[in-house]
Amino acid sequence: MLSVTSIPAFNDNYIWLLKNDDNHCVVVDPGDATPVLEALNNEGLELDGILVTHHHNDHIGGIRTLLEHFPALSIYGPATDRFPMVNHPLKHGQSFTLFNTDFTVFHVPGHTLDHIAYYAEGMLFCGDTLFSAGCGRLFEGLPKQMHQSLTHLASLPDDTLVFCAHEYTLSNLKFALAVEPNNTALNEYVVEAKALREKNIPTLPSSIGKEKCINPFLRAHIDSVKAAVSQGATDSTDTETFAALRRWKDEF
Ligand code: ZN
Ligand code: FE
Repeated sequence: MLSVTSIPAFNDNYIWLLKNDDNHCVVVDPGDATPVLEALNNEGLELDGILVTHHHNDHIGGIRTLLEHFPALSIYGPATDRFPMVNHPLKHGQSFTLFNTDFTVFHVPGHTLDHIAYYAEGMLFCGDTLFSAGCGRLFEGLPKQMHQSLTHLASLPDDTLVFCAHEYTLSNLKFALAVEPNNTALNEYVVEAKALREKNIPTLPSSIGKEKCINPFLRAHIDSVKAAVSQGATDSTDTETFAALRRWKDEF
């Protein structure tokens, strides 16, 4: 059985650690090698591989040092020339097997143009594309691309656990409440998430089902969200609504 735990890094990153029964593991987006090496040491684990979602340094900065410790690492990542260290280049729709689990790759442009996400039954590793109650900034992609990427992720089964790369939940929730102050599920989740963070417990993983109820960026098709971004009007397209939400959040 594959189990997933978090390794906190920097201020608010999570490096996800996937391990099987015989002490072999892989990590997702190791921005820093130090906390990864500590975790491997503490738990007596051997690192077999790395999954990379995108090229930002807080996601790849630890790879070089990890390779020095484990020269035979399998490094999975986008099949673009930004990733010379990747020895398993991946495109949309490709699959691979890790610890007897099938993973499928989705191309999810928006935060960056070559961002990918990893899906296995019941779990999604989505880097900086989908956050709990939010989504990544559009550094490279167009609103239309990010909206399509998020819509694709939202089509996964409701019980899919969402392992995003940052603990941004509470600040995202402030924005979500400004958009939908009367959303009951959202208000309930704010109480839950605050209680978790007071005890320093991660709010992640979330789930696709939960995000569809509380994340404004997955709710651009809902009238109350459309109305919130356009002075009560509900006739804007979903993509226009998404773009307006993203602009609003950038200045929030
Ligand atoms: Zn990023
Ligand atoms: Fe990041």
